[in-house]
Amino acid sequence: MPVIAAPALTEVATRIVRSTGSEAAEARTVAEHLVGANLAGHDSHGVGMLSPYMRNFHNGLLVPNTAPEAIRDDGPFLQFEGGKGYGQRVAADAMNAAIERCRSTGITVMTLRNSHHIGRVGTYGEMALAAGMISLHFVNVTDHDAFVAPHGGRQARFGTNPITIAMPTGDPAAPVLLDMATSKVAMGKLRVANNAGKSVEDGLVIDADGEPTNDPGVVFREPYGALLPVGGHKGYGLSLMAELMSGALSGGGTLQPGNRRLGGIINTMTCFVLDPARLGDAGWIAGEVDAMVAYARSSKPVDPAEPVLTPGEPERLRRVERLRDGIALDDRTWTLIREAGESVGLDPAEANRIAGI
Ligand code: NAD
Repeated sequence: MPVIAAPALTEVATRIVRSTGSEAAEARTVAEHLVGANLAGHDSHGVGMLSPYMRNFHNGLLVPNTAPEAIRDDGPFLQFEGGKGYGQRVAADAMNAAIERCRSTGITVMTLRNSHHIGRVGTYGEMALAAGMISLHFVNVTDHDAFVAPHGGRQARFGTNPITIAMPTGDPAAPVLLDMATSKVAMGKLRVANNAGKSVEDGLVIDADGEPTNDPGVVFREPYGALLPVGGHKGYGLSLMAELMSGALSGGGTLQPGNRRLGGIINTMTCFVLDPARLGDAGWIAGEVDAMVAYARSSKPVDPAEPVLTPGEPERLRRVERLRDGIALDDRTWTLIREAGESVGLDPAEANRIAGI
């Protein structure tokens, strides 16, 4: 299992994305986002995604050097077309525009349609936090078959539809950042388990007959099974609302079967950015947030070795560890990354050399 330092892994990812024709800044943004997801502990949204990205690039389902195109610019309302561009670049550009607009409007509603995979949505929450703003994101996943079942259903009807909420606190280094798939696990976590030949815990997936299974492979081979929504009927409700808020309001469309499915990974996002200072004294609000977070954390832990954490904290802890110790990738994932690189002209031996292996 190779363990690679974050800067070296960023360099490998940059080289691969650059080889698809991306200009330097775009390649860097995509690579830093992917490695940032690995650092945050979300290997599901890290450099392992380069394998499906290169497949989509070769199939014309991912278009490098695509900036978001503004299709509505009307005061607090900003709407963008993503043109199947690298989502990490397209969504970051759109998010920067939303944050900038929010400085004058106090609240901005931004939608993005037809973007290639935007990755770890928390990254965009972190952008709002860096500007002292609150953000709320609804995202759906289209252009391919569904893989999350509704509560009570045997067949998949959704993607993993993340919902993300970012809230500043009095400490810029410790914001509250809830960033969650509405399925019990993110699809990529099953990919990581499947690549590593591991089974998954009870209650995460059902097979093609709708029966429980521990085999993550059921969502990667026909006849397809499905992931289950988090929290039963409530998670199903959140997944449906993420689908509607993003797919319907962005103009990008939902996963309903009347919309085309070419086999890509397309995200749409509806995002609300809010300047808390427009609703009251920013100092008082931050103080109240801090006091409530401290109160939640003061609850006596069930397991003394596992203190109560704040959403966003596990990612921060993981980042410290992985920046120090490097990022461990399973052998299969590293092989797939090198194959992805080779498909755009990066010699696997060169990838090993850059990675320091
Ligand atoms: P997760 O289950 O690991 O974490 C979800 C949230 O719970 C996070 O905010 C985390 O900080 C918080 N959390 C975790 N453990 C906690 C604890 N003990 N106490 C308090 N809070 C805790 O994440 P996930 O649902 O598997 O999602 C993983 C990533 O996948 C996210 O970054 C999401 O944006 C991304 N995603 C992207 C897409 C896409 O299409 N682009 C789709 C699905 C998911």
